[in-house]
Amino acid sequence: MKKIIITIVFLVLTLVVTVSLFSFENRQLINRNIVKNEKIIHIVPLGNIDEKYVNFVKERIISFYGFNCVIEKRITPTDDILASSKKRYEASKILGKYNSNKNLLLLTSVDIAHFNRKKNIAEYGIIGLGYRPGKTCVVSTFRIKRNVSEKKMMERLEKVSIHEVGHNLGLDHCTNDKKCLMNDANGTVTQIDFEKVWLCDKCRKIIGMK
Ligand SMILES: [Zn+2]
Ligand SMILES: [Zn+2]
Repeated sequence: MKKIIITIVFLVLTLVVTVSLFSFENRQLINRNIVKNEKIIHIVPLGNIDEKYVNFVKERIISFYGFNCVIEKRITPTDDILASSKKRYEASKILGKYNSNKNLLLLTSVDIAHFNRKKNIAEYGIIGLGYRPGKTCVVSTFRIKRNVSEKKMMERLEKVSIHEVGHNLGLDHCTNDKKCLMNDANGTVTQIDFEKVWLCDKCRKIIGMK
C-alpha cells in the first residue's frame, strides 16, 4: 500500500513539473513574438466605410504580418483633402494630413486620386497610396468593388492593404515575381487579381520576414 502511495505521489510530482516547464517554455515563446512584432498598426476608418471591412483588414494584417492592430475612432473626410476638381480626394493630401509618429492605415470608401507621372494625368484614380518607407498609408474600396462579388472585393482589399503596409515597411514595387503582391497595379484591378496573398522571397528578405 505504502509503495502505491509513493508511486502516485511521484507520478503527480512529475506531472506538475512537466506542466510548469511546458508553460514556462510557452510564455517565453509568446514573449519572443511580442518583441519581434512590437509594431502596432492603427486602422482609421475615413468616412462611412462599412465596419465589417475595417474588422476584416485588421484581422488580415494581424494574420499576414503578425503585427498588433487597433481600430481607431472614425474620422470624417474634410474639404482640405479634396483634389482640385473637388470630385474626389487627393491621396497625398490624406497622407500628409494624418501622418504622425504612429503607424496608420486609413481605410475609406471614397474615391482617391493621385498625380500619375507616366500618364501625365493630374487626378488619376488609385486604390491605395503609402509612404515608402513611412508610417502612413491609405486604401480605398471605391475602385475594387465595381462589378464583382463581395468575396472578390474583399480578396482585393486584403492584397491592397498588405501592399500599402509593405510600402510603409520600405518595400518598392516588385519586378521579381508577377504573383507577388508588391507588383505595381497601375491603378487597375487586373494585376491585383493575378497576384497571390503572398510576398516573393526577395521582398520577404528585404523586410526580414520568414
Ligand atoms: Zn504600390
Ligand atoms: Zn516581390
